[in-house]
Amino acid sequence: MSFLPMMEAWPRPRVEALYAGITPEEVDAALYRERRSLRDLAVLLSPVARTRLEDMAREAHQLTRRHFGRTVSLYAPLYISNLCAADCLYCGFAAHSGSREKRTTLTPEQIRRECAALQAMGYQSVLLLTGDAPRAVPLNHIADAVGIAREFFPSVAVEIYALDTAGYRTLCNRGLEGVTLYMETYDRETYARVHQGGDKTNYDFRLDAIERAGEAGARRLSIGALLGLFDWRIDVLWLAMHARWLQKQCWRSALSISFPRLRHTPPRFIIPCPVSDTDLVQIMLGLRLFLPEVGFNLSTRETPAFRDRLIPLGITAMSAGSSTRPGGYATHRAGFTGHSRPGAPVLEQFEIDDRRSPAEVVAAIRRAGYDPVWKDFDRAFDNN
Ligand code: SF4
Repeated sequence: MSFLPMMEAWPRPRVEALYAGITPEEVDAALYRERRSLRDLAVLLSPVARTRLEDMAREAHQLTRRHFGRTVSLYAPLYISNLCAADCLYCGFAAHSGSREKRTTLTPEQIRRECAALQAMGYQSVLLLTGDAPRAVPLNHIADAVGIAREFFPSVAVEIYALDTAGYRTLCNRGLEGVTLYMETYDRETYARVHQGGDKTNYDFRLDAIERAGEAGARRLSIGALLGLFDWRIDVLWLAMHARWLQKQCWRSALSISFPRLRHTPPRFIIPCPVSDTDLVQIMLGLRLFLPEVGFNLSTRETPAFRDRLIPLGITAMSAGSSTRPGGYATHRAGFTGHSRPGAPVLEQFEIDDRRSPAEVVAAIRRAGYDPVWKDFDRAFDNN
């Protein structure tokens, strides 16, 4: 199966039409319906619902409690490479981003050192990341990294270039649990404009990658749209359709959504459709009401104060103490390598805004009335 026919059945004008003629009465009805339709989601994301965010927050809070209890899981990103052959205009790792900072791929020994550092901080769940450079960072290197990470953590996920089903299966056979892959934007035209080089230019191959990961046995799937690239009211509708479609297609896997929002970009890229804090709150609340049983992840791209405010609105997993440069936890701490080019900073993908330590984030989660969870207890019930 492919999600492509669904995208073709829902071109932009049809999605825009979902937002037509919305009334305050419809917002009331959408707020308290048991199972919400796509039109309900559009109603909740519409400007008309803007005055009802508090009511939406109450409902979102209750739904999250019902489906996920009071827990928020913690995970750490571990960049194993910053080499990238793609040219995504918004990204610091892009082949032509203009950055002169050091590019590197961690050796197995360095990956082990990074894992040990994260384990010492208490993490039991790690997300391994690379750029889109299948020739420089081949699948077997990533598979080895998964194998190493599994020596340290019960839960290992990857956020890497799109693979075919056999590729995902290779990683699952080494103990991979989860795959994160953002479509960035579902709008084909915008996608082509901002992705100018490398294998990532293939929209169709990327669109169906997450389903292939599910087919291959990845037990956790995570999707998202890079907020800021396109009109969020349209992209989030497509994202929500993709989520519901994946829930049916990949019913063996748990699905989650991330909310990456463009904030710091390379000088050559101006964010075309900025998303405000209130927009982001409305997106999360609307999606929580539409997808009550889907996990929500929040990265350190957002500020501490804003992240703390978002916790009760439906967040189920957070990263903390993150570094977006390879070796950032132990090998090249603070971004400086003591090896081949002393003093040369190691390139990071983007600047993070929440620089608190894991302990400080744990304290913030507790202050919000939630229990931080370092371990994925679901695994205890997994027979695979
Ligand atoms: S977004 Fe990913 S694929 Fe694109 S340039 Fe950055 S690291 Fe490479």
